Amino acid sequence: MSRDIKFTVNVDEYLSLNKYEVDESNAHIELVDEPSDEEFDKLIMVCPAALYKRDEEGRKSFDYAGCLECGTCRVACGDTIIKKWENPQPTMGIEYRFG
Ligand code: SF4
Repeated sequence: MSRDIKFTVNVDEYLSLNKYEVDESNAHIELVDEPSDEEFDKLIMVCPAALYKRDEEGRKSFDYAGCLECGTCRVACGDTIIKKWENPQPTMGIEYRFG
């Protein structure tokens, strides 16, 4: 059974409503020093905030600022290239706002 999609959602617009308190002194997510390409590319695919990136030369980058704390990267690669995944300290991290 198919359903017609009658509306679209602008994810960037919704994400911009949220407030972030970034803990600059304590990253709540850390990767291993040399993450494998294969595992890193999984994170590029699954992170809803698009925080895992590669540039034109294939260099990898990750910035935990803007993290939605969804835990998807932990589930996908928690046994491989995610070295640390913790909830941010109290008052830090994302504060969801719904418009
Ligand atoms: S917890 Fe979610 S939003 Fe944060 S880095 Fe992992 S996949 Fe991205």
